[in-house]
Amino acid sequence: MRMLPKLKSGLLDLLFPPLCIICREPLGGGHGFCAACWMEIVFLDGPVCDCCGLPFGVDPGEGTLCAACLAKPPAYDRARAILVYDQASRGPILALKHADRLELVPGFAHWLERSGRALLADADLIVPVPLHRFRLWRRRYNQAAELARALARRTSRPLAVGALERTRPTQSQGAMNSAKGRRRNVQGAFRVPQPALVVGRNILAVDDVLTTGATAEACARALKRAGAAKVQILALARVVKASDVLI
Ligand SMILES: [Zn+2]
Ligand SMILES: [Zn+2]
Repeated sequence: MRMLPKLKSGLLDLLFPPLCIICREPLGGGHGFCAACWMEIVFLDGPVCDCCGLPFGVDPGEGTLCAACLAKPPAYDRARAILVYDQASRGPILALKHADRLELVPGFAHWLERSGRALLADADLIVPVPLHRFRLWRRRYNQAAELARALARRTSRPLAVGALERTRPTQSQGAMNSAKGRRRNVQGAFRVPQPALVVGRNILAVDDVLTTGATAEACARALKRAGAAKVQILALARVVKASDVLI
């Protein structure tokens, strides 16, 4: 009997060989990146700001905050991303967002689980960063919700897809050309329709890309105002250089 699941996954791999998330070449096994793409991708697994996850060039020691977080502590408790958003990672992330490439979700969820272990450890509820209903209607799915759903399934954590709501359509954060504009774009754009869902709980909000953190900040404010005890943000990728913002 114990052989069955193994046999089943072996058969699945034979029928649908796992592909590299980036270049879609077949992999030897498991989900992830092929060796060539692995070399291109910049993982955020070095020293980062303990709050916003900004990578540091040199290790200033555990628990260090960046200048921006020291000057103005964000409303969220911690934000982390797996990869740097750049030329190498942009392709598959945009494919997931705009091109119906939902087959990328399991591979990405696997990475969110691996790299988000510290955040997942004390998360009570997984919540996707929502799209406004107009945009959802146009795109038919919310990539953050698909990632959150797959992550919740993998980690057996409760999921509340509608815990956060976008109250007004906002412009794409990538299209805004200043940090101030991005902040204003999402300020007050989120609400928690059923505060009972989040009161006293540690919320893990899932998104695809952290641009300036303005969306994370607005989501965290709404969740905390509704009574959430802690808000952590987990994203696939993070913009590190301003020149990589355009999406
Ligand atoms: Zn590849
Ligand atoms: Zn920081």
